[in-house]
Amino acid sequence: MKKEELIKIFQDSQALLEGHFKLRSGLHSNRFFQAALLLQYPDIAEKVCRILADKFKHLKIDTVISPAVGGLIVGQEVARALGVKAIFADKEDGKLVLKRGFQIKSGEKILVAEDVVTRGGRVQETIDLVRTFGGDIVGVGVLVDRSCGQARFDIPHECLLELELETYEPDNCPLCKAGVPIERPGSK
Ligand code: ZN
Repeated sequence: MKKEELIKIFQDSQALLEGHFKLRSGLHSNRFFQAALLLQYPDIAEKVCRILADKFKHLKIDTVISPAVGGLIVGQEVARALGVKAIFADKEDGKLVLKRGFQIKSGEKILVAEDVVTRGGRVQETIDLVRTFGGDIVGVGVLVDRSCGQARFDIPHECLLELELETYEPDNCPLCKAGVPIERPGSK
């Protein structure tokens, strides 16, 4: 699927908006992306995650793991496409942990799946967690990479869509200067 087709799917689901936005960080941007709005449609989630999963078909993956909460649906759908199981890591006291009876065996071949990567910290934390159990991380699959290629892991990583989000300091925002009304997405 071409990048333009993917972007259209993202825009049609309102997951990707263009305009003038105040982000949670306080920065302003000309775009806003919320993966949950894309993944709320199971048929779309299945379709886009299958394209992502295809990039890993040649690897003999046993298990897909994702960090809760954002990565859950991507992990589930990528695992479905690969015909393997999906587990996830919970956040406890600010750290990712394996709970709910999930187990990772030594040598188990594991793919990390995540919805959005900005700096890659949460994916790296998931990789580190899997390795404490002796799991063998064979890849990282991300739906949207907002890091503009900055996120680097020590294993092959693939993303479905690279998305550049320009951000501006509020007092140096060209959209503010142009008098474009600002929105706060997700606050309604
Ligand atoms: Zn602005």
